[in-house]
Amino acid sequence: MMSRAMNKLLLEGKTGVIFGVANKRSIAWAIAQSLANEGMRLAFTYQGDRLKESVEALAGGLKGSLILPCDVTSDEEINAVFAAVDKEFGKLEAVVHSVAFAPREDLETDFINTSRAGFKTAHDISAYSLVAISKAALPLMEKAGGGSILALTYLGASRAVEGYNVMGVAKASLEASVRYLAANLGPKNVRVNAISAGPVNTLAARGIKGFTGMLHHHAEKAPMRRNVELEEIANAGLFLVSPMGSGITGEVMFVDCGYNIVGL
Ligand code: NAD
Repeated sequence: MMSRAMNKLLLEGKTGVIFGVANKRSIAWAIAQSLANEGMRLAFTYQGDRLKESVEALAGGLKGSLILPCDVTSDEEINAVFAAVDKEFGKLEAVVHSVAFAPREDLETDFINTSRAGFKTAHDISAYSLVAISKAALPLMEKAGGGSILALTYLGASRAVEGYNVMGVAKASLEASVRYLAANLGPKNVRVNAISAGPVNTLAARGIKGFTGMLHHHAEKAPMRRNVELEEIANAGLFLVSPMGSGITGEVMFVDCGYNIVGL
């Protein structure tokens, strides 16, 4: 049995990198806070100067955090993040991948009209980036004796959800990448999991056509008759990233008030 010494935080002395904070509603920010509350020191990345101020304003409030630019379509920028983390932290126990994008036109059109370019972009940013980030993180996790990588996904990966379109196909690729990475990195004591979150009103979610209707539908049909709270996703993230989740890898865990189990 794991015992927890009085006053010892779960993640004291541990370090992590968070990809995907845009603002205070971001799932990445909720997870970051739950990790920081348990003592983890964090590095944050922001996508382009547009988001720099917002990420600095949030992350600046956490002691010892690093703030670095990173567009995940660039291997150079990904490598620069981990070089800076190596210099400052010297090792790494956690990575949170909370990044997704598909061009608006491809989300708004019927799925059959998905463009080749939109398909590529959605997969590059939302799925391949997990592989590239894991590769760059691995040497630092090996230095720590192991680590945990967490991605964010949605039910549209395995079911056809109206309006989710090419993003659902990219999430299927992300979930398969979680399994292949978990199989590949397990021997190095690196775990890779995903949380499949119910809908939450964030910047990215507003790009989905009919998102407000989706929120109402979920709240009506989910066994718990409500939508999931950001804090609940963050708590599940803490569980999977921390030693509490030490026996779990390659898993997609639903945090959706039970919506995914319902038929009619
Ligand atoms: P968000 O808009 O707060 O976060 C999305 C992030 O992706 C932003 O920080 C954005 O800067 C980043 N991003 C996009 N393109 C990028 C690029 N090229 N390089 C680097 N970063 C890039 O929205 P969110 O809802 O918190 O999304 C986080 C994750 O959660 C996504 O993977 C999303 O698909 C997933 N998710 C969201 C919901 C929901 O309902 N909000 C449900 C299930 C899963």
